[in-house]
Amino acid sequence: MTVVDKSRPMVLAEQVHKSFGLIDVLKGIDLQVMPQEVFCVVGPSGSGKSTFLRCINHLEKINAGRLWVDGRLVGYRQKGDKLYELKDSEVALQRRDIGMVFQRFNLFPHMTALGNVMEAPVQVKRETRAVARERALKLLDRVGLANKKDAYPAQLSGGQQQRVAIARALAMEPKLMLFDEPTSALDPELVGEVLDVMRGLAEDGMTMIVVTHEMGFAREVGDALVFMDDGVVVESGHPREVLTNPQHDRTKAFLSKVL
Ligand code: ADP
Ligand code: MG
Repeated sequence: MTVVDKSRPMVLAEQVHKSFGLIDVLKGIDLQVMPQEVFCVVGPSGSGKSTFLRCINHLEKINAGRLWVDGRLVGYRQKGDKLYELKDSEVALQRRDIGMVFQRFNLFPHMTALGNVMEAPVQVKRETRAVARERALKLLDRVGLANKKDAYPAQLSGGQQQRVAIARALAMEPKLMLFDEPTSALDPELVGEVLDVMRGLAEDGMTMIVVTHEMGFAREVGDALVFMDDGVVVESGHPREVLTNPQHDRTKAFLSKVL
């Protein structure tokens, strides 16, 4: 794992706004994710959780406010007081450092588990196949799938596919991992194996933002938690505090449904 500057936030959001047409989806998000933190985001469907993750990863562009990842302004370069939009090549460089895992695993169906994990380092980083293969094998071992390296996605369970997806994201050696409800599409008996992999990553010091409804995971593994509703952060704090002693009615109402 690379050396991290622990004094500087890995993600800093200041009054981040995002709208689609006339619909305001993010209405001024302020938050800070420190290096090596497991930062959980919970909230009802439609509150803007995915949109926020997508803004961090350049899949959406914010309309107002500022967003920094590892000290770099997302989408912009600052010179004096002026901001300049990044070129596509610069955006691509920023995105390399961020791994994302979605609810749906989105593996390449025509490639084996090993092929899926090797693909981005070879195509994007121009690594040799030998180097990419060696790391991919280690990563498949780390997610407990060394023996499935030659299996195609259709031959794997949902939990196994999601673990390949995590290995695939890790293959780019990201500084930050974004998880958008990584277990929501899984059968209940497969949730644990994915959460175990994520727990291991957390123990190894990976900085992670995790959108999840798994409150047990948030409580045990999370270092910080925000409750989002209707495009704002309603409440934030240590997961155990927020989950056991929520202060706001909206948080209480949500937690009474999911806990
Ligand atoms: P969550 O992940 O918390 O369920 P989302 O970020 O997916 O919430 O969505 C928040 C709101 O933004 C929803 O009302 C959704 O319909 C809207 N939204 C998300 N993406 C788009 C888009 N590309 N175009 C229009 N509306 C969108
Ligand atoms: Mg979502």
